[in-house]
Order: sequence, then C-alpha cells, then structure tokens
Amino acid sequence: MLAEEVRQKLISIVGEKNLLDSEENLVVYSYDATPNYQAMPDAVIKPRNTKEIQEIVKICNEYKVPIVPRGSGTNLCAGTCPLEGGIVLLFTYMNQILEIDEDNLTVTVQPGIITLELIQAVEAKGLFYPPDPSSMKISTIGGNINENSGGLRGLKYGVTRDYVMALEVVLPNGEVIRTGGKLAKDVAGYDFTRLMVGSEGTLGIITEAMLKLIPIPETKKTMLALFDSLEGAGQAVSAIIANKIIPATLEFLDQGTLEVVEDFAKIGLPTNVGAVLLIEQDGPMEVVDRDIEKIVKICEESEAISVQVAQSPEEGLALTTARRSALSALARKKPTTILEDATVPRSKVAEMVREINKIAKEHNVEICTFGHAGDGNLHPTCMTDARNEEEMHRVEQAFADIFAKAIELGGTITGEHGVGVMKSPYLAWKLGEEGVNAMKTLKFAFDPNNIMNPGKIFAKETKKRVVVQK
Ligand SMILES: Cc1cc2nc3c(=O)[nH]c(=O)nc-3n(C[C@H](O)[C@H](O)[C@H](O)COP(=O)(O)OP(=O)(O)OC[C@H]3O[C@@H](n4cnc5c(N)ncnc54)[C@H](O)[C@@H]3O)c2cc1C
Repeated sequence: MLAEEVRQKLISIVGEKNLLDSEENLVVYSYDATPNYQAMPDAVIKPRNTKEIQEIVKICNEYKVPIVPRGSGTNLCAGTCPLEGGIVLLFTYMNQILEIDEDNLTVTVQPGIITLELIQAVEAKGLFYPPDPSSMKISTIGGNINENSGGLRGLKYGVTRDYVMALEVVLPNGEVIRTGGKLAKDVAGYDFTRLMVGSEGTLGIITEAMLKLIPIPETKKTMLALFDSLEGAGQAVSAIIANKIIPATLEFLDQGTLEVVEDFAKIGLPTNVGAVLLIEQDGPMEVVDRDIEKIVKICEESEAISVQVAQSPEEGLALTTARRSALSALARKKPTTILEDATVPRSKVAEMVREINKIAKEHNVEICTFGHAGDGNLHPTCMTDARNEEEMHRVEQAFADIFAKAIELGGTITGEHGVGVMKSPYLAWKLGEEGVNAMKTLKFAFDPNNIMNPGKIFAKETKKRVVVQK
C-alpha cells in the first residue's frame, strides 16, 4: 500500500478519479500478456499530460516508489508486471495524434495511441508507417518503442527503431528532455533517441514521439509456397535473398502451427505439408509483378509442392491475417501458451527449427514454431499448463536449451519481445557479465533510486548455461 502522504500527493496531481487503488483495479494491472507472472501494484495512475507525469515522477523519486509505465500490457516478457509494487502508470488520456507533417514526412503522437490507428490515419494521407507487430490492433506506440517491436514487414522496412526520430522523455529525476527532431542528420551529442528505444520503461517515461513516414507502396501481392520440409523452405528463403529480392514479408509456419491456424481461421490452408512460406512483395506494379514471378520460379526450383499467388487483395489479406493470428490460434490448445522469440542468422533458420523440435522431444513438451524466416526471428511456442509444476519445469529447461542453441548459432535470446523479467536470467548468456554490468552502470546513472520499472532486464541471478549436445 502507498503511504497515505504519498497517495494524497499523487491525488493532488491527477485528481481522485485518476488514482485507482481498489482491490479489483489492482488485480487487473497485476499481470500482462506473459503467462505465469503476477504481482500486485500499490496503485494505478492515469495522468493527463507531461506536466502531471513530471510531478508524479518527482514524488516517486523522493519517496522511492517504483513506477511501471504500461501501454496495453501485451508484452510477452512480463515487462509490465509490477514485481516490486509501486504505481502502474497508464496513458489512457495521452493517445492523440498531434501532427502529421506531409512536408517532412513525420507524424507526432502521444504514447498511448494504438499502433493500428496510427497506421490507418497516415494511410488515409497516402503515407506509410511500416512497423506492424501482430498485436498492432491493441498495442500502443509507447509499448512498441520501449520493446523496439518488429513485425511482418521487418525484413524490408526494419523495426520500430528505424522510424523513431524524436522523443519527449520524463527522466527519473523529473526533468523533461527532448531528443532528435525533424532531421535526417543530427549528431549533436549522444543518440538518446536510440538509447530510449527498447529500454523497456527502465530509463524514463516517453511522453511524445515523432516517427518517420514513407510514401505508401503503390501495390502489393501475396503468395503461399508449400514445402515437404523446413529444409526446402529454408533453401527457398536463401535463394530468394541471393537473387537480390527483399520481399516485404517472408514468414514461415511449421506443420503444427499450420494445423492450428487453419482450424482457427478456416481459409483453406493446407495442413498436411512440412512448412509454408507466406511471401508478400510491395512497390511499383511492374516491380511487384517481376519479383513475384521470380519468387514463384525460385520456390518451384527449391522443390515447393505448390505455389499459389493470391488473386485479390482480400485473399492476400486473409493470408496475412491468418499468420498474424498464429499466437491466438495456438493459445486455444492448452491453458497456458508460452511464446518465445529466439533469433538466429537467416541462414540458420532450418537448423534452428530442427534443433527446437529435437529439444522439445528430449524434454517431452509440445512446441510449434512459426516466425519471420526472412530475418531469422523464430517464435517457438509451447502449449502447456502452468498448474502442472513438473511439466513447467521441463518447459523451462527446454527454453533454456533453445536460448543456448540460438546463441551457439550466432543468434540471440530475443529478437523483438524484450528481456523484461522472463529473459533476464539469460541476458548474460548473450552479453557476458561485462556487457550486463555496462548496461547496469547506464541504468543507475539515469535512475540512482531504481524507481523506473525495477526488476526488469537485470536478473538477481544468471541461469547456469548448459551446452546443448548435438
Ligand atoms: C498476440 C500478440 C502478438 C504479438 N506480436 C508481436 C509482434 O509481431 N512483434 C513484436 O515485436 N511484438 C509482438 N507482441 C508483443 C507486444 O505486443 C509488443 O511488445 C508491443 O510493443 C507491446 O505494446 P504495449 O502497448 O502492449 O506495451 P506494454 O506491454 O504495456 O509495455 C511494454 C514495455 O514498454 C514500457 N512502456 C510502455 N509505454 C511506455 C512509455 N510511454 N514510456 C516508457 N515505457 C513504456 C513498459 O513498461 C514495458 O516495459 C505480441 C503480443 C501478443 C499478445
């Protein structure tokens, strides 16, 4: 519980109705989309502007009250689970588009805007904001920036980081800074904009963001290629890139995922093949036609069982929507769904998927894999039941082996979902203890009282790394 003095000071900033601390409200904000993590906050607060956030932060810093900024809570690393209590800070009132600048191709938004609303608003003006996490119907831009979210269009267009031009940030001492600007070139001092991207709410609170826009592609086409095996699909991916074609989307689903997605989406996806590639190209009509024609040929040469090009934009949309629903579809199978995002160099995708299947077998757990074949970002997803402690132990062991294998293949423990609590015990596997210490030094220089999202990114203990046997 908050000390009454602190509670009253916070109410004097936001008003009684914007500080929630009934048991029901606290329970609602005690967890996020990550299974198996829950901790009660002391209060939930809904500021209306930067000035209010600044005052809240000053009080929290003085009384050492943890602050957990929260967008829509869709993160998959327990990043908004209030592990050490304190206040959960919502952006419910700060969800506006402040400006679309068609001369400089930028959009300026408040952090609480929903990603898809932003995408649609700029598309109405013939402009394009490419980062498209599958959660875009509910995720916020503040969350996307703090997780450096990726999406289906990441291969060709990059991730959230590549579109953040400027930020307004309330620092843990309550000072407000503005980073970057409407500038293609700006090397005035450290790049604080980049530092804030992916910082998971641990360095400050983003209260405004200016994002880069590009002209909307003239057209796009979508196709599916079916393969007997993942190796065949992997070979096709390498061949497409080696032919100097960068598709807008290059996704794969394994047989297990396909079956579940088809059962959910019912759009006639084949369920009896080893793997499927979902490929999309966009751009000028003649380039799209030329690239799709070449990709069809490459897939056929890579022994695709069949290749189908969507005959209409609606058919194409149904295919990409089905891919976006993969996690929700898998979640219907068992009470608990744990989705990870181990990432490897593109050339290692088929090998990594094979290893994931082997590891799942060894630990006797059910794992399906789908993901971004073009950029090596895999989503091994385990369907399990958190109430079964013995099984959960096996699941944890399996994921530890998967992370170890990904690193061995030159990859990483997370490509887009962030570290949060869930992957903090593995961070040193990727960075080394020295790397983690350097990050901690930075964190404590910004936030000496450790009020910003404490308990995230840095684990109390690193897990022991076991080398996976071939
Ligand atoms: C079905 C599903 C599909 C998904 N698909 C993808 C995908 O394709 N790609 C992908 O990258 N991720 C994906 N995710 C993960 C998740 O949606 C993203 O990480 C998303 O960016 C989180 O947005 P959010 O608004 O829910 O943020 P939250 O979960 O509320 O917060 C995420 C982090 O940002 C911090 N934060 C939020 N707002 C601020 C702020 N204004 N200032 C400071 N810190 C802040 C929080 O403290 C937390 O650490 C998926 C999740 C689900 C459930």
